[in-house]
Amino acid sequence: MEKKSVQTALVHNDYVPPAGFGAFPVAIHHASTVLFANVAAMRSRNWQDKSSYTYGLHGTPTTFTLEARLAAIEKGRHCLLAPSGLAAIAMVHMALLRSGDDVLIPDNIYNPNREFANAMAHDYGVQVRYYDPLVGAGIAALLQDNTKLVWTEAPGSVSMEVPDIPAICQAAHARGIKVALDNTWAAGLAFAAFDHGVDIVMQALTKYQSGGSDVLMGAVITRDEALHQRIETVHMRLGLGVGADDCYLVLRGLPTLKLRFDAHDTNGRAVAGWLKSRPEIASVLHPAFPDCPGHDIWRRDFTGSGGLFSVIFDDRYSEAQTDRFIDSLRLFRIGFSWGGANSLCVPYRIWQMRDGWPGKGQLVRFNVGLEDPADLIADIEQALRTLQA
Ligand SMILES: *Cc1c(COP(=O)(O)O)cnc(C)c1O
Repeated sequence: MEKKSVQTALVHNDYVPPAGFGAFPVAIHHASTVLFANVAAMRSRNWQDKSSYTYGLHGTPTTFTLEARLAAIEKGRHCLLAPSGLAAIAMVHMALLRSGDDVLIPDNIYNPNREFANAMAHDYGVQVRYYDPLVGAGIAALLQDNTKLVWTEAPGSVSMEVPDIPAICQAAHARGIKVALDNTWAAGLAFAAFDHGVDIVMQALTKYQSGGSDVLMGAVITRDEALHQRIETVHMRLGLGVGADDCYLVLRGLPTLKLRFDAHDTNGRAVAGWLKSRPEIASVLHPAFPDCPGHDIWRRDFTGSGGLFSVIFDDRYSEAQTDRFIDSLRLFRIGFSWGGANSLCVPYRIWQMRDGWPGKGQLVRFNVGLEDPADLIADIEQALRTLQA
């Protein structure tokens, strides 16, 4: 495919419909059994080769098309689909770590990733260490001879610190260590992970790529062939097939991915900017705002920000008060995840998640959806009034 802007490539793509039938959507191919014309054809095929088909678990035209498109969005070469973002995270851990190996994980990592790593430590003898997400080049001092993997997440999806990915990659690569990035927040659009040095990109497609709050899926994307093969082997051994209907839901969301992401970004900044002006709010943890740790790195390395950010309430408000604020919201609903059209809001007991978290203000995370931001602001304004009561 010749070079196009991301937005054009999301709409125009290489899918070829069956001969004599013209239409834009990718067909939904259901198959466990794939048929071979003869034994020689069966023997000649290899499950790892994505130019042919062997068995439904190893891929169909629907899954291969989605994989190719996701790899193109990330500017990667290989993509593997998993039934959830968390399954994609698990694949990376299992492909790169053996007992006795060491893995470094930022202290603000998506919590189920932390729990998976802790289980690897407890059950399989992997050494797991947590580092300050703002460590930057200082990661070099933490690297050991048995360190095999450094996880990153940009930004952490609750406390929102933006890490210096190029500095971390440079230090890790100097010792032959691979760097994985949970790039879900930027959707593969606002941060060019491979260009900044990352080896393995993980995406929760559940979020922006789906956009419908109706499907769970994950992806692991790489450029390096040997690395891809190691992850692909784990993918096969664990039997991580994804259904064609679910793939279709994600494929259907892709042409509007960037438009939706940009609209989340515009709405998110409008709501965050308004919150910043409020006396109830001590700080706005949105990477595009100077309060956010790592804001300068975001300005240097990122091109956008989507709709997810957190705020810290002023210390004078108790948890009971901020809970009442959240319960009073009408347009923002209470629930995990993000990337769908509906705005969401969740409180986190951040001081229980992070050692030495500064301050006592309540942390509340907003996922700003695709409603009119003026209505969202009015909703927050009426809910803030409950703080005075
Ligand atoms: C949601 C999420 C995941 C996991 O995705 P699921 O599909 O819900 O398993 C991983 N990382 C981040 C940052 C996420 O927000």
